[in-house]
Amino acid sequence: MGTFIITEGQSIDDRMIIYRLPLIFQGMGFTMAKSCEYCQIDGGYGKLIKETPYWMIFLAPSQRYLGTCVVALKRQCQDLSELEDEEWEDFIGILQKLEHSLKKTFNPTLFNWSCFKNKAFRDGDPNPEIHWHFHPRYQEKVQFSGLEFEDPDFGYVPKTTPYKVPEEIMLKIISAIQENL
Ligand SMILES: [Zn+2]
Repeated sequence: MGTFIITEGQSIDDRMIIYRLPLIFQGMGFTMAKSCEYCQIDGGYGKLIKETPYWMIFLAPSQRYLGTCVVALKRQCQDLSELEDEEWEDFIGILQKLEHSLKKTFNPTLFNWSCFKNKAFRDGDPNPEIHWHFHPRYQEKVQFSGLEFEDPDFGYVPKTTPYKVPEEIMLKIISAIQENL
């Protein structure tokens, strides 16, 4: 598999190529899970926010819960028990930074972390991938960039119902998270 490096100098447009990586990976023999009801409503994990040695952090296509992200492992791996120690360490760093950033950015009430992989097994040839869903949850409404976000499911598991916001708002959410990351 090739290596994709994002440099500081690249524009946001350049970096957006990266969130089409699932399709590129498919072409390279890296098979993405066919779909995930939580995060792959656009056929991929979303827009890249940050990359670490072992993981990629995306802003999820659905923002039903403001700041919803996906943290995807860069290699094919089915079970959490197969993760290497350095991959766990890298992930813990992401978890801490992401929660800290969201707290400063949107001040959610709590965070949900989930690793489901269920939908991949509904088909005959399951090929799930390790990716974490990061759902910030809100007891109060949040205003951001002229839009009001609420969490209609507060206190319950996140719903898969997609909620899309305009492209320019997505970019602003990414910038806001990156500023505090
Ligand atoms: Zn997912």
